[in-house]
Amino acid sequence: MLERTVTELSALLACREISAETLTHEFLQAIRQRDPQVRAFLHVDESGALEQARRVDVRRQRGEPLGPLAGVPVAIKDNLCVRGQPTTCASKMLQTYRPPYDAHVISRLRQADAVLIGRTNMDEFAMGSSTENSAFQITRNPWDLERIPGGSSGGSAAAVAAGEVPLALGSDTGGSIRQPAALCGIVGLKPSYGRVSRFGLVAFASSLDQIGPLSRDVTGAALLLDAIAGHDPRDSTSVNRPVPACRQTVEQPVRPLTLGIAREHFEAGLDAEVEQSVREALKVYESLGAKIAEIKLPHSKYAIAAYYLVATAEASSNLARYDGVHFGHRSTEHQDLIDMYCRSRGEGFGAEVKRRIMLGTYALSSGYKDAYYLKALKIRRLIHDDFAQAFTRCDAIVGPTSPTPAFKIGERITDPLAMYLADIYTISANLAGLPGISIPCGFTKTGLPIGLQILAAPFEEEKLLRIARLFERATDWHTRRPKLAELPGIHEPGR
Ligand code: GLN
Repeated sequence: MLERTVTELSALLACREISAETLTHEFLQAIRQRDPQVRAFLHVDESGALEQARRVDVRRQRGEPLGPLAGVPVAIKDNLCVRGQPTTCASKMLQTYRPPYDAHVISRLRQADAVLIGRTNMDEFAMGSSTENSAFQITRNPWDLERIPGGSSGGSAAAVAAGEVPLALGSDTGGSIRQPAALCGIVGLKPSYGRVSRFGLVAFASSLDQIGPLSRDVTGAALLLDAIAGHDPRDSTSVNRPVPACRQTVEQPVRPLTLGIAREHFEAGLDAEVEQSVREALKVYESLGAKIAEIKLPHSKYAIAAYYLVATAEASSNLARYDGVHFGHRSTEHQDLIDMYCRSRGEGFGAEVKRRIMLGTYALSSGYKDAYYLKALKIRRLIHDDFAQAFTRCDAIVGPTSPTPAFKIGERITDPLAMYLADIYTISANLAGLPGISIPCGFTKTGLPIGLQILAAPFEEEKLLRIARLFERATDWHTRRPKLAELPGIHEPGR
């Protein structure tokens, strides 16, 4: 069961070959056996998951209509509010927080009759590219336990790659769904900005954040996107457009198909094996009838600088609410109110979060705002325009997701700039609001997965998924599985 796709699992559930309860038991068992090595989960809701599964089984027996994810276990990144359950953002600041409400995507999953199985580890407040910034535990890449799974949705990606869960939700502000998907050999989709409501997603950088699916195959991602997409009046940036029917259209090829490649995606810093796999993927597309067009993204060289100004500026504002009064950890020892704020924030936030708050506060400060923040916004517009121009000449842009395969735990943690460079190919999509997907396209000689990134014009998720599925149907990279020892372990979450 653990090796099946979501489509196969849904079919087996629908014809009662297996019950939702049995399936949930199987995945809970897999978590018990594999997660002591991988450490993807912060919290596993065994009893809640089994209860949800049983309810689905009862309703199925009664012949009641069921949602599209009925009985399918889904893992949730720990920055999405689930009513009454710990939602920590992997931060000491929110260690005891239990939201009084469900995020929009959680309500949607409940409507779809999915089984919410637990919460996954992440970089604190989604700031990072390796999941090492978690205040609670280090998640390991299932393909090589000495390496990072990527980040910030590293727990979600590792859990799916390890076969601990068939589907997971992550969030992507600068690449946090696509990059860990690439490094863990699975599929990760960041929807267009506005496609999915951010209501109940703990805000990092509000103009960039989007929630999206992680899955082993494109069809699973399509199914999960359909379930969470759509307008929600509680997020004023969620757009009122028809909900896509990605699952229904995903098998339709795109013809004619023109794929754009940008020189800027193949410059210094790109690992040779990653480049080779991506070039081979392009050949696969050509053999399927695609035309390749050279496009230009001349402002992408400023993307990292612009992103780390916009994202930190927004983060400094969003994280002001954690003062020990409105939200978050409150220091027990303090002299006066200001001292209490300082100590609470000093104790609650980790080093990277503090660095971002300081950078963002500086970029927004009087006298510097025009030189940094406003300049970054102008670059953001130019990056957006580069893409608009490119999409007049191609259906999608194809390149590497990450410049390197998974790096070793500890390798970049003391060098923030090296860590920020992991996002070089992913952040432009967030700055421009584009949908982007990462799909498996090969392995290094040492057996580490390589991801192919495909970007499409805003709100063209259906086309994007069809193009991704075209490649998936012609290759078998997505069918490979990491070898993990099956330990008789007992799950001990980090908190
Ligand atoms: N790695 C990027 C950062 O640290 C992106 C994070 C994300 O997408 N949440 O900001």
